[in-house]
Amino acid sequence: MIHKTISKVAFIGTGIMGSAIAGHILDAGYALTVNTRTPGKARALVECGASWAEDVAGAVAGADVVFTMVGYPEDVEDVYLSSEGVLACAEKGAWLIDLTTSSPELARDIHEAAEIEDLHAFDCPVTGGQGGARAGTLTLIIGAAEEELPEELLELLSCFSAKRCFFGRAGAGQSAKLCNQVSLASCMVGYADALALAEQAGLDAGAVLELMGSGTGGSGASAVLGPKSVAGDYAPGFLAEHLRKDIGLALAHSEELGLSMPGAETAYALFDLLCQIGGARLGTQAITLLYADEAEGAAAGLDWSRAEQSDGCDDGGCPCDHDHDGDGCCGHRC
Ligand code: NAP
Repeated sequence: MIHKTISKVAFIGTGIMGSAIAGHILDAGYALTVNTRTPGKARALVECGASWAEDVAGAVAGADVVFTMVGYPEDVEDVYLSSEGVLACAEKGAWLIDLTTSSPELARDIHEAAEIEDLHAFDCPVTGGQGGARAGTLTLIIGAAEEELPEELLELLSCFSAKRCFFGRAGAGQSAKLCNQVSLASCMVGYADALALAEQAGLDAGAVLELMGSGTGGSGASAVLGPKSVAGDYAPGFLAEHLRKDIGLALAHSEELGLSMPGAETAYALFDLLCQIGGARLGTQAITLLYADEAEGAAAGLDWSRAEQSDGCDDGGCPCDHDHDGDGCCGHRC
């Protein structure tokens, strides 16, 4: 296998997370080229010195390392495997690192297809949220063994991360990330239940969150997002539709392994409902709106009548905004 030294980096998908991560790569002095579906979302990076590429092929030309951080498995598949995609256009010996939360099976497929082309691809989903991306303190969940990665690449990864967890093989990074998301999903439902109970019991919600944070009832989710729910701040750091996607991927993964996950099923049903009634592009903390009265939900853009209209996902009646192919919905379970 060819190993290249690292100076030129491409970044595809500069949304909430990608723009912050790409900013750290630029600040660290690498020559950065960016591409993303909505060009305006790369404007700030270009103003800070990144080069803009019109398409994936232009972005990866000459790059030693290519990062991708798009939304859904379908986006990953398109970016990597289409005829003008990353695998077709990257330079021999380049490192291809997918930061998207996506399917373990797709990560393995990309890894194997890349090897044939003399490219090194691995999955590297992240945790730490928008705050961690901005601070450069993300945890990386890596579908490779540490000894496979050259020192120069580890140095590049450390410019936007505080911790790197190695899971040894392609796809295992995504599997581990889905474990994290399953736990997160139940933590979200747990704190939403708790805040609803606090309100019905006439308690101060902030005081209840504080109490939970000082004992074993709290979680990272209740600590970071609980105060936003209480304040009615539903701006997205992590989109509700992305958590629905992640729980759907985890449920599909568990089914393959013959495991039932009742907590994740409950969380899936609640986040799916939130997305159906207009909350797909709100932050995950909007889960608490499912317990609120209709007027409060309407003020945040929710419309409960859309729940009745939805007829599921298997015949094009899916409430999500994404394209569907013959296989049904785009990576999430509707
Ligand atoms: P986001 O803001 O929607 O960013 C994804 C970006 O990828 C969007 O700007 C999107 O373009 C772009 N994109 C999609 N398909 C593309 C394609 N074919 N070519 C070029 N660009 C494409 O979402 P995010 O919050 O950054 O999350 C990205 C991924 O990380 C998701 O899988 C999410 O589950 C995961 N994640 C998110 C967080 C978080 O806290 N936000 C934390 C950990 C992991 P448009 O702007 O046109 O839609």
